[in-house]
Amino acid sequence: MSEHRNEMPSGAPASSVAPHGLHHVTAIATDPQRNVDFYTTVLGLRLVKTTVNFDDPGTYHLYYGDEAGRPSTILTFFPWRGVPAGRQGVGLTTATAFSVPPESLGWWQQHLDGLGVDIDYPRARDSGRQAEEVLTLRDPDGLVVDLVASPGDARSGWDGQGRVPAEHAVRGLHSVTLTEQLLDPTSTLLTGLLGMAGDGEDGDRARFTMSGDQPGSVVDVAASTTAERGLQAGGTVHHIAFRAPDRATQERWRGELVDAGLEVTPILDRQYFTSIYFREPGGVLFEIATDQPGFDVDEPLLELGRHLKLPPWLEPSREQIEQVLPALRVDDEPVAGSS
Ligand code: ZN
Repeated sequence: MSEHRNEMPSGAPASSVAPHGLHHVTAIATDPQRNVDFYTTVLGLRLVKTTVNFDDPGTYHLYYGDEAGRPSTILTFFPWRGVPAGRQGVGLTTATAFSVPPESLGWWQQHLDGLGVDIDYPRARDSGRQAEEVLTLRDPDGLVVDLVASPGDARSGWDGQGRVPAEHAVRGLHSVTLTEQLLDPTSTLLTGLLGMAGDGEDGDRARFTMSGDQPGSVVDVAASTTAERGLQAGGTVHHIAFRAPDRATQERWRGELVDAGLEVTPILDRQYFTSIYFREPGGVLFEIATDQPGFDVDEPLLELGRHLKLPPWLEPSREQIEQVLPALRVDDEPVAGSS
């Protein structure tokens, strides 16, 4: 791995679009109950919101994270029953990484092995300017999740259920890996318009970091001219979201992205944040989401995830929605509102 700090390509316009980390990752699952059981009891994340897909209210949208579902700790799922299995490949986010304390990988290996989870044993991986230790696992739908030993990650994670002891708890997102045919033009978008810094490159893999070097601010791009195109379906990532501090900044960034020729959605109200979406040149769907207002906007922190929450515009259809959603249990309690 060469020590190669990317400069902004000469001639590229200076951008002030500068997301300060990953906000969340959203993936596709099949069975909602199996998804809840895996992410709460196996990975020890907190279910911080049980709601529906606002664009498809007949299906759940499940959010997991730390105690409060703080930005950069969030993994969300659209559980689409009956969706066929997808295929990892070019044009997709092919791995979602969480950080765990450096001395915890052995505990995780035993824990996951004991539960019969499909894992690759911890190994050293050249990433950016230093090697890091990674344990890779697959969730019940085949989604690839990396646990990365991360010194110096001060986030607290969640140990509310005691299933994963606090000392080993997942701290939050570490990084995502995008698989592309070539590093460019994706790398140019990341270092140019999106203001990221190159942080090491070894030919077919490059690391990019977002401003501030906070935990959860890494994007890896893996290039493969031989890999098949990915198929987005069960067990694959739907999109990744970056953090904007507030709506005014998001609005300004949207203007800059549009001026640069990208097709960007209007600002959409996602109840817990507002969002814009656009596709990077390799085909991966990017979102920029605000840090505010967060998940305690419609239920108290202690109750997060335990009731089916709907945004005000879907509340009039609650009865029909509850009739089509399958029943769901969290911590052996039925989620109120699931039928
Ligand atoms: Zn999203």
